[in-house]
Formats: sequence, C-alpha cells, structure tokens
Amino acid sequence: MRIFKFGGASVKDAAGVRNVCKVLNTIGYENTGIVVSAMGKTTNALEEIIERYLSEDTTYVDLISHLYEEHMEVIGALEQPSNDQESDFSVRFRESGIKKDIKYIIESLTEELLRNKSKSYSFLYDQVVSHGELMSTKIVAAYLNECGIPLQWKDAREFIKTDNKYRDAAVKWKESEKLVKKKCGAQLFITQGFIGSDDNGFTTTLGREGSDYTAAILAYCLDADSVTIWKDVPGVLNADPRAFQNTVLLQKIPYNEAIELAFYGASVIHPKTLQPLQGKKIPLYVKSFLLPEDEGTVITDAATIDPFIPCYIVRKNMVFMKISSRDFSFIGENNISDIFQELSEHKMQVGLLQNSAISFSLCVEDKYNKLKELLADLESRYKISHVTGVSLYTVRHYNEDAMEFIEAGKEVLLKQRAQETLQLIVKE
Ligand code: ADP
Ligand code: ASP
Ligand code: MG
Repeated sequence: MRIFKFGGASVKDAAGVRNVCKVLNTIGYENTGIVVSAMGKTTNALEEIIERYLSEDTTYVDLISHLYEEHMEVIGALEQPSNDQESDFSVRFRESGIKKDIKYIIESLTEELLRNKSKSYSFLYDQVVSHGELMSTKIVAAYLNECGIPLQWKDAREFIKTDNKYRDAAVKWKESEKLVKKKCGAQLFITQGFIGSDDNGFTTTLGREGSDYTAAILAYCLDADSVTIWKDVPGVLNADPRAFQNTVLLQKIPYNEAIELAFYGASVIHPKTLQPLQGKKIPLYVKSFLLPEDEGTVITDAATIDPFIPCYIVRKNMVFMKISSRDFSFIGENNISDIFQELSEHKMQVGLLQNSAISFSLCVEDKYNKLKELLADLESRYKISHVTGVSLYTVRHYNEDAMEFIEAGKEVLLKQRAQETLQLIVKE
C-alpha cells in the first residue's frame, strides 16, 4: 500500500479536483489510500459558523447556506465535461447522487447545531468542523469514480480511534491499527484527513492541519511503502516561499531534521506526521500536485539534509514574555516547573525559552486565545512584561551570511544561538 494526501489547496475548486484525477492517472493508483482535507478555506468558514452560533448570532445559518452553495458550485463545474471526457460524463456524474449527499451533510450540520446542548466549545468544534472533510471526500470520490478510478469512500471515524481530548485528540494506536487493517487493507480507498472518533462514537479532530498526520497514521497501521503529500510547492524548500525570496528545494531530509523543521514552525508538514513514519522507516514524499512527475522532497533515514544549506522559518503573531520573581530572588526549578504547568494548562506553544538567574524569557504562540487568563494566573506570583505580535525567526544550519541576512533591518528583542540553530525574536 501507499498513502497519498491531498490538502485543502489541491482541492480548492473544480480545477483542483480535476487535477487530482490527472495526478492519479499520471502516477498510478493501485493499492493507494487517499486522504483528503476540506476544500480551500472550508475549515475556517466552519470555525466562523461556530463562533457566530456560540455568540447567538443567527447569521450563522447564512454562512452554512454559503458553504452549501460553494460546494454545489464545485459540483456544477465538475458536471461540465472536459475535452477528454465522454459526452455522457455529465449525466453519469449527476446521477451519482453527489448533490443529495452534500445536501444531507449540510442538513445534518444544521440539525447538529439546533440539537446541541453541550457547553463545551471543543466538543462542538469537532462535531461541526468535521463536515468539511466529509463534503470534500464525497465530491472527490464521486468525481474520480465517474472518471473510471474505482475507489471506496470510507468514513475515517470508523477506524481512526482517539481519546476524547476534542480539537487535539490523541490516537489510540492499537485499536486504530486493528480497525485500519480490517477496513482499509489492500484496496483503493479515499477517506477524510483530520477526523476520528472517541469511544462513544463522537467525532474528534487531530488539530488544525492534521490531515498530513492522518496520512501518517494510516501508513503506520497498514505498513505502507510510502506516503506522498501533494502540495502547491515543489517540495520542502529551505524557507516558506510566501515569506522569503529565492528559496531552494531540499531534495533529501533526514526524519530528525524534518521533525526539527516542523517543530520550529515550517508549516509545510504537520509536526506530528513524522514520528509514526520514522518508527517504521516509511519514506515521506512531498511533491507538487502541478508537476507530479518531478522528484520533490523525500524525508527518509538519510544521514544529512541535501543540499546542506541554511533553512529559514518564521512564526508570526507570537508573544514575548519576560517573567521574574516579585522579590528579585532566583528563578529556580520550582518556578520553572510552576510556569510550565501554567503554559501547558493554557495550551501555549513554546517556541523559544531562555533563563537567567532572576528572569525567564519565553516566546509562545497563543493558539487558543488564552493569554489574558495565563497572565492573570501568573501575575499573582511573578512580575511579567509581555509584547504581543512579535515574530520568531529560526535559522537551522546558519552561517555568517545567513545571520547577517536574517538580522538586517530588524528590531531584535532577543537572540539565541545554539550549534545548529539561531533564533531571533523580532518586533514587527
Ligand atoms: P495543504 O494544506 O494544501 O496540504 P499547506 O498550505 O498546509 O498545504 O502547505 C503548503 C504551504 O506551506 C505552501 O504553500 C507554503 O507557502 C508553505 N510552506 C511553509 N514552509 C514551507 C517550506 N519550508 N517549504 C515549502 N512550503 C512551505
Ligand atoms: N481541514 C483541516 C484544516 O484546515 C485539516 C487539514 O487541512 O489538514 O486544518
Ligand atoms: Mg494545510
């Protein structure tokens, strides 16, 4: 088996869905498990629906209608046969029942919200956002089937089993492995990234951008030969091309290096993706969905990154905090443990830390909007200053030129150098 993953960008519209078909016809699709994310920005739209619903803003129903229309538009465009398709394609695609399927998914979303009695934001979040992946996989499956690619549509919640930590669920590996082997082995199938289910059958999600991770989970459970994630970039570059010019393709990356890059924030790969693959030495290919025959990047147990050049990562909108004791006493192990306990409880992701005798500096990402709460809790025991909206730059394998380049024209609040990694907190 091998696993392919198509992300939101690759299926953002009808042209994207058609291109998935082209990629499969070019590369082949025997014994392939295909993981698909929600189309384009659907997950963000579903998040907005939850926000409005919870603030009792009834216009959330308009957003649901809009989402419905958007998906129907994609189906409408797919109905038009392209030049190389038979003339009865439109009729067959129409008769596949896909419009009914999408209508049903949208109705179940609306009912879910009307019925909801839960006060838990995270629980509701997972029940709602999962509808994006359900819709995209239905559309892609219907289209590919009509194009003569006979794949089975599968509901990932039947085999990706997790705990009930909604929005950031942890996989139950043994249970999932058994189910994945039973339900997905040795066949061509399509399923949703990002979603799973808990012991009570409620939907869970694996964290934003978690579809890459789903691909890795399936590969692990099926002892797959490889995973390929199809992207709008030629592979993993030495920097995000949206933030840097003149980026260079990394042809080979060792697992550990890829884990480091993902950890520091290279958003091209979800950080949890590598670990299950590394355990079984399953190679991860990152390739362009526009140039599927190009080599792209392979992440394997290679000895070193190739080419060996500086890699740049920037995480924007971070918070820089300086914490010191109220009485100028040392910041000791007890304080550090106490501070980390608070960070963990408030789901802050730490990107950098540095301590001196009397202070402790941190750069954190406030993913869940909990900064106010965290500060309120810590301020009873510590003196804290903080700056929001800073950027954290990381350079792996830096050299003199890279240091000069990254610092040029920036207001640096803190700089930290380790053997392989340079980090700067910058006021933007
Ligand atoms: P999808 O969700 O469609 O799978 P993503 O948008 O999550 O894809 O990832 C692709 C994007 O990742 C690219 O468009 C690029 O801007 C960004 N990116 C960030 N860092 C890198 C990097 N080092 N190399 C390539 N792309 C990167
Ligand atoms: N649709 C989800 C998200 O946008 C998962 C993913 O795309 O990987 O976060
Ligand atoms: Mg993504």
